[in-house]
Amino acid sequence: MHVLIPAAGSGSRMKAGRNKLLIELEGESLIFWTIKSILSASLVSWVGIIGQPNDKEELLKSVKNFSNKIKWINGGDTRQKSVFNGLNSLPSTAEKVLIHDGARCLIGPDLINKCASELEQNDAVILATKVTDTIKIVDNRGYVKETPNRQNLWAAQTPQGFLVKRLRKAHEMAIEKNWTVTDDASLFEMLNWQVKIIEGNSSNIKITSPLDLKIAKLFLKDS
Ligand code: C5P
Repeated sequence: MHVLIPAAGSGSRMKAGRNKLLIELEGESLIFWTIKSILSASLVSWVGIIGQPNDKEELLKSVKNFSNKIKWINGGDTRQKSVFNGLNSLPSTAEKVLIHDGARCLIGPDLINKCASELEQNDAVILATKVTDTIKIVDNRGYVKETPNRQNLWAAQTPQGFLVKRLRKAHEMAIEKNWTVTDDASLFEMLNWQVKIIEGNSSNIKITSPLDLKIAKLFLKDS
């Protein structure tokens, strides 16, 4: 299985003044932990990391010896553009691909393998968890408009896996139609293509804020 890791963000919400994936957790960078897990998954055969050219040296240095086992791909100024660059840099033999955010450094090899094997049976899969909060849809003035039924609400995570040809087509359509999305599955939904949910776990958090770092530290110590 081929895996692409978007890692080209600026980390502005983390207020770290640099790519948040370079922040250290238990002595290693966040991206080190992400790549360690991915390379430990038995079904993974190829890994590409998508980063900003000016982060290349530091990111590759921070993943130590793993840097010999991954391909570098230049990212774009949105996640969507970064993933599109990644798709265009896959080896031509790649039929299916898993996309996993560099910022989800607590993913375990088991869940990566689970996504890879479910992808054998499906054109598109995403890891997700059931939502426990009651979610409100709010209008632009800050007033509640609606409360969707919680039973049907899931929080999307990564890995998200796809048939490469289809995902590339979906990204090309998005460029043509000016669609902007925050995950790849959204493009499939807009095209009415099916996406299968795989139930993950709530420890697979995306490191976004300084609080997430504290939580991740606890999880990492525990694992
Ligand atoms: O900003 P956010 O945490 O939602 O980004 C999700 C992932 O997408 C992160 O791993 C980030 O590095 C990546 N990203 C990217 N290219 C961008 C912006 C974000 O690869 N231009």
